[in-house]
Amino acid sequence: MTFAATVLTLMPEMFPGTLGASLAGEALAKGTWSLAVKDIRDHGRGKHRAVDDTPAGGGPGMVIRADVLAEAIDAVVMPDDPRPRFLLSPRGRVFDQALARELAGGPGAVFICGRFEGVDERVIAARGLTELSIGDYVLSGGELAAQVVLDAVIRLLPGVMGGAGSDLEESHEDGLLEYPHYTRPRTFEGQDIPAVLTSGNHGEIARWRRAEAEKLTKARRPDLLSRKSQPRKNPLEG
Ligand code: SAH
Repeated sequence: MTFAATVLTLMPEMFPGTLGASLAGEALAKGTWSLAVKDIRDHGRGKHRAVDDTPAGGGPGMVIRADVLAEAIDAVVMPDDPRPRFLLSPRGRVFDQALARELAGGPGAVFICGRFEGVDERVIAARGLTELSIGDYVLSGGELAAQVVLDAVIRLLPGVMGGAGSDLEESHEDGLLEYPHYTRPRTFEGQDIPAVLTSGNHGEIARWRRAEAEKLTKARRPDLLSRKSQPRKNPLEG
């Protein structure tokens, strides 16, 4: 099954962008996922195809018009389309690995990239959009955010990553940050690889890695440990 991504943007030239290279690019070429890019400006108003206007009530910046965006969505997303529709937005729920997994198991997703001050609030409910953030900072547009989300999802699609199971040990997969890695040379500027890793004792190695992952998570992200014990809601439900 092909994971179908549809992106609505005012900057279509930004796609596939980073997703055209490396693992995601190869998977796109193979048909593991597909990408449809829709230029919101196709539905702009007047000679200059205006898509935005000044905010009601005053204030800085411009706002993408509800009618323009709704028409652009309706042109590429049919009402019975089963895919979740995301509006990239710093106000949204924060994207995480659980949602990446959930999306990777589904038919695809629609991503609407904001620009300027954002979009007219009315289109969000009218088209059933879920606001999705990639973190607590403000980007100039949703395009990079959509690519971040897609990158995290695509690498989980069957056949995209080489090493079987390597994706399951990753940071955030089990609520822990990943243990440290080492490779050649055995000694680097006076530092040796921890002896247990060259011992050949797989049980010991697994225990050491688990302990290191817990130590690192406790030191850097104690919030992940407390979150782990709480049962998780379906990330697509509010
Ligand atoms: N005025 C808005 C920010 C607009 S930034 C506010 O304060 O909430 C312009 C666009 O960039 C947004 O519409 C959104 O699509 C995108 N964007 C900015 N920061 C983002 C983030 N952290 N995650 C996802 N999208 C973001």
